Amino acid sequence: MKIAVLPGDGIGPEVVREALRVLDALNLPGLVLFEGDVGAIAYQRHGHPLPQETLDMARAADAVLFGAVGDPSCDNLERHLRPEQAILGLRAELGLFANLRPATTFTGLEHMSGLRPEIAREIDLLIVRELNGDVYFGDKGIRTRDDGEREGWDMMCYSESEVRRIAHVAFRAARKRGGRLTSVDKANVLETSQVWRDTVIEVGKEYPDVALEHMYVDNAAMQLVKSPGQFDTVVTGNLFGDILSDQASMCVGSIGLLPSASLGERQTEYGAFGLYEPIHGSAPDIAGQGKANPMATILSLAMLLRHSMGREEDAVRVERAVAECLADGVRGGDLGGRATSREIGDSVVSKLLTLS
Ligand code: ATP
Ligand code: MG
Repeated sequence: MKIAVLPGDGIGPEVVREALRVLDALNLPGLVLFEGDVGAIAYQRHGHPLPQETLDMARAADAVLFGAVGDPSCDNLERHLRPEQAILGLRAELGLFANLRPATTFTGLEHMSGLRPEIAREIDLLIVRELNGDVYFGDKGIRTRDDGEREGWDMMCYSESEVRRIAHVAFRAARKRGGRLTSVDKANVLETSQVWRDTVIEVGKEYPDVALEHMYVDNAAMQLVKSPGQFDTVVTGNLFGDILSDQASMCVGSIGLLPSASLGERQTEYGAFGLYEPIHGSAPDIAGQGKANPMATILSLAMLLRHSMGREEDAVRVERAVAECLADGVRGGDLGGRATSREIGDSVVSKLLTLS
């Protein structure tokens, strides 16, 4: 089993380092790790934020563990040389079209949420966001009309096959979770959403054990803060998913806690090929100070164990170790505490060793 490790910039290397210590503590046989440059560090060393050798390394691996990219020193570079392009390039080149973002409240953190604690306590959901289509990738431009006024347009487009493949990912995920899937669209006004909805219903016939419901995105945004406990698995397009997943993350409380997985169609002999990363960025304001909370990256590693290695039990152990550390009061700066990245890594590793 080969893992490409791409720590990237800012706090990326600091949080990835701790996740690798957790991986080490699991003592799994037959693991080979490769490390590559990505982001601003890759631009400085190789003249490009996503060097060919990094891409080749990721392609040759069974999974990718990614830190974060971005550095203020690159803000004035041409768009294609900016660090952020590296992650977009990786997702596209690796065919990763399904972004999985779980959001679960942790015992002891209910009051960190923007929601009332008794409501925050209910959150245990997974957002499955389509990553390769929608308004981001449709025909777009800015033109000047005859009357001299500028107008911009972005075409929203989804084909049945694009919807079908993300729907399968979502139904399979829902089946493994609570057996309920909410498909979010805006079918009352958008034709794209009509195709989306029809296709999800069609795919749903293959999953009679999953209860499917449909919700308009405006209502979903409202329900997410009103009673998030009603959601189990949510599937939606790229644009709606972008917004709803950020919203869901703030319902949990801290950006330093939330993991993500990006999956495609490729299967390896161990599971699904995927890229795993925390949802936070490179946080240049705290980089190099040992202040970053590595829990989001450690939980991303748990997702890697689950989806790319078929090691559900180890994944659950890692997740329990993190949850129990939080319940014990281990707090990084993002949670108003003082624990350093290394101390948080140490706590998770010791906790892990006590869990069978
Ligand atoms: P990007 O554009 O790459 O998503 P961003 O500008 O949205 O980046 P982040 O890098 O995610 O922002 O950081 C947002 C804020 O959260 C910063 O103040 C940062 O210090 C803080 N932060 C982010 N991740 C962590 C972490 N793991 N631990 C502690 N604080 C964090
Ligand atoms: Mg951000």
